[in-house]
Amino acid sequence: RPFQSVRLKSVVQEALQLLRGSLPATIRMETHLDVTDDLVFGDATQLHQVIMNLGTNAAYAMRDAHGLLSVSLREEDLSEPRLAQALGVAPGMYLCLSVTDTGPGIPPDLLDRIFEPFFTTKPLGEGTGLGLSVVHGIVRTHKGGIDVHSEPGKGTTFRVYLPKGAAAR
Ligand code: ADP
Ligand code: MG
Repeated sequence: RPFQSVRLKSVVQEALQLLRGSLPATIRMETHLDVTDDLVFGDATQLHQVIMNLGTNAAYAMRDAHGLLSVSLREEDLSEPRLAQALGVAPGMYLCLSVTDTGPGIPPDLLDRIFEPFFTTKPLGEGTGLGLSVVHGIVRTHKGGIDVHSEPGKGTTFRVYLPKGAAAR
């Protein structure tokens, strides 16, 4: 599928509407999508998938208790080479999509394996272990980056960085 100019905010809103319908009443959802220039160059279907995969992981992580899923979209200046390099992206302006849950977190010793295909901690039938590897692949295809911060007992935040702008970089 060809890359096009995509309104990331609309894609996020559509995905979150779907996700919201599948959340139990114990999980609240909060969004901060107050970005004005939300154009990226990409594939809306793939970007939709990124949000769904991160969102369903977050929801699963909070399945046993009350929780808060917060999703935000903001602009991020990665023109400083050191900042860009840390995320494996080219220096420039980015849109940062962050997905935060208040689940149990990810044990530190597992953090560097979660993006591997077929890595899962879920019981047979509940996870394929492909969600995050697909996310990683899509993000890289869009010349973007991803990072994760997780605190056991507190929750997890995934941040996806996508280059700003409606044309190929
Ligand atoms: P799956 O969801 O099928 O297990 P993923 O690739 O989506 O596969 O995720 C891999 C693993 O990463 C999960 O099994 C889980 O251990 C961990 N993980 C991902 N997201 C979260 C999260 N929000 N909170 C806690 N653990 C997570
Ligand atoms: Mg998953």
